[in-house]
Amino acid sequence: MTDYLRTPLKALTLGFDLLGFFGNWKPFHQLSPVARRRQIEAWKSSSSGFKRDLIRYYESLATLALYSRDLSESPHATSAHPLPRRGGEGRGEGNIKQPGDNLNIIGIPNRELRHEIVVIGSGPGGAITACLLAEAGRNVLLIEEGPFYSLASCVPFTKEEMVQKYRNGGQTVAMGTNKIAYVEGRCVGGGSEINSGLYHRTPPDILESWRKEFQVDGSNEIDLLPHFEACEKELSVSLLPGTAPAASLKLHDCATQLGWKSFEVPRWFRYDANGSRRREEAETKDETTVRLLTSAATERGSGKRQSMTETYVPRFLNAGGQLLPLTRVQTIHQDGGRWTLFAQHASVGALRIESETLFVCGGAVQTPTLLRRSGIKRNIGNSLRLHPTIKLVARFSDVVNSAHMGVPVHQVKEFAPRFSFGCSISTPPYLALGMIDHPEHGNVVRHSWQQMANYYAMITGEGRGTVRPLPGFRDPLVRYTLTRNDRRDLAEGLHKLTEALFASGAVALYPGITRGGCLLRPDDLAKLPNVLPNALASLMTIHLFSSCPMGENKTKCAVDSFGRLHGFKNLFVADASLLCTAPGVNPQGSIMALARRNALRFLGGH
Ligand SMILES: Cc1cc2nc3c(=O)[nH]c(=O)nc-3n(C[C@H](O)[C@H](O)[C@H](O)COP(=O)(O)OP(=O)(O)OC[C@H]3O[C@@H](n4cnc5c(N)ncnc54)[C@H](O)[C@@H]3O)c2cc1C
Repeated sequence: MTDYLRTPLKALTLGFDLLGFFGNWKPFHQLSPVARRRQIEAWKSSSSGFKRDLIRYYESLATLALYSRDLSESPHATSAHPLPRRGGEGRGEGNIKQPGDNLNIIGIPNRELRHEIVVIGSGPGGAITACLLAEAGRNVLLIEEGPFYSLASCVPFTKEEMVQKYRNGGQTVAMGTNKIAYVEGRCVGGGSEINSGLYHRTPPDILESWRKEFQVDGSNEIDLLPHFEACEKELSVSLLPGTAPAASLKLHDCATQLGWKSFEVPRWFRYDANGSRRREEAETKDETTVRLLTSAATERGSGKRQSMTETYVPRFLNAGGQLLPLTRVQTIHQDGGRWTLFAQHASVGALRIESETLFVCGGAVQTPTLLRRSGIKRNIGNSLRLHPTIKLVARFSDVVNSAHMGVPVHQVKEFAPRFSFGCSISTPPYLALGMIDHPEHGNVVRHSWQQMANYYAMITGEGRGTVRPLPGFRDPLVRYTLTRNDRRDLAEGLHKLTEALFASGAVALYPGITRGGCLLRPDDLAKLPNVLPNALASLMTIHLFSSCPMGENKTKCAVDSFGRLHGFKNLFVADASLLCTAPGVNPQGSIMALARRNALRFLGGH
């Protein structure tokens, strides 16, 4: 079992032992298997949300632990990508980039540093900002809390990747009546290192609503066009050179038959010559051959995702920018116009860093945490938005999945902006996690995972949340409240998704609703609720934003239209926090276009 799972599992087992003692006069682990099963069932159907959440958390950890072995034995886990040794973090072992790789990566920093500009956070917002400033000849330090791993340091979408590159191994939750599990990248490159690479521009009607409601200047479709185009070129945003994975096509084909708008979403991905050649070959053949040839190309993963460590971070370093990984900024203070940052480096400890100008780019949760912890609170962390998402696992009679399935690329946008749906990563551990609400069918993943895939319905939503630092804790308290309309949209999204999947030949559907039961035929659709039940749905999100919204409306906005904090001359935000509301599409394209526009404006170019 992985080290990071061992401690929480032990702690939870102890907790269960204590709880079991009260009901049975015996610690939980000494109960008979039947009594233990009964106890677990009682907790799962308990009216106490606390007990239900505890057992769900325990099950998620246990599922990850159980599937750890499968993953390390998976055909992906080759020695071509050895994992860093334990304890490598902070000591520069394993695949963590070494200072020697590039003199501008700071391995062991001085305790006092001074730079003209400091950028905190190296995700899409921070990386592009730091890169453009360094290329303009400015003296820039880019600080990142996480380590610097290359993209190839682990197999994408595995547990190993979670351990290396996710904050808290991916175990983070927004509290509220319905808890929403969310994940963030914590490494050089931020979320771009772990995401699917699916690209959208911000929908024009969303930009227009931001202009009207938040008084955002200079960000309509025409204003942002050059920035979208530049990022698309630099990230090589393109369609697959061949056919998409079968599970993705299942949804696309049946949605199209139902008359719904469904399309392949482009990705930031550089396909190698092999992929292009296969596409050329395929274009001269009939459709079946096209699918076979091109899915073979896709299965071999012929190319590379264009994450930040593949694009803007190397450009930043080549332009003379300095990167300080493994360093968390705890607080910032302004003194006589200059900024002083108090930070913690993984091996050196406390650091003091000075700069004239500061860009905070820690992402929609960490940016408001840092600002609020530093006493900067006006309109900060009060309006977190996200895309609440419900998943279901579908089982088909034919094979739709494989060890090399890769990223599904189709999305159904017929019902956008209210909700949209698509297929998601479907490796066996991800499928097993999706089956947690269906323990009686838990074993089906082991036998039939090749006939199974994960699908999701995601809403744009009108709910909102807050981010608050907790004294003495590293992580903030994140709360999010769904409205009744959100729960209705989630239920309707799930209903439509289910309809489409039955039309595509699914033989069983397992929605993420506790005690919801599995659906075996189209008639079972009637079993789905019209409004998602409070506290009984398994919700998650990978899209967070709007915690420091931009615009000239000072009653609502934390920063001006170009990211400068209202009331400050030399403090900027450049990340997902800027988006005024949920965009209803994958957000990285929007974050990068805005960050590019704002950096160029800062430099006086536009
Ligand atoms: C699993 C997953 C899949 C996704 N798929 C897609 C997709 O297909 N398409 C899409 O458009 N979007 C996708 N997203 C969302 C996208 O990755 C994020 O919207 C984007 O990365 C946000 O960029 P950012 O710059 O705001 O912050 P982040 O990417 O979160 O980067 C912030 C960085 O700052 C660092 N940091 C934070 N606080 C501090 C501090 N105090 N000191 C030092 N460093 C700090 C963090 O460690 C992190 O590396 C996905 C996200 C996830 C998690």
